Amino acid sequence: MHQRVEREKCILNTMITNYCKQVHNTSVLCDDCNELMDYAEKRLLACPFLEDKPVCSKCNIHCYNTKQKDRIKEVMRTVGPKMLYTNTRDTLWYYFYKFIHKSQKVKKQNEDSKL
Ligand SMILES: [Zn+2]
Repeated sequence: MHQRVEREKCILNTMITNYCKQVHNTSVLCDDCNELMDYAEKRLLACPFLEDKPVCSKCNIHCYNTKQKDRIKEVMRTVGPKMLYTNTRDTLWYYFYKFIHKSQKVKKQNEDSKL
């Protein structure tokens, strides 16, 4: 498996596990979070830019469906800022965090280009 995918998977896993512990008060992933993890993993593996993957925030393909996107956003919002302090060297989460602002940004860019 590509190293980058492995790394992203690891970060996703950490985020979702932390989220579930914190919010759902569980020691192992609950069914919902398990499903989300599974989904995120599949999206990651299905990414056509595997070898030279742009960060998700720069990717033109909106590969998450709305429901799962909202859930992953919620996860990032909850554990993301905390992970910034604990994983300062690993900036990858930052790309994921940017993912949250993606739709907003795209909208703004469109507005800007109209000017
Ligand atoms: Zn959970």
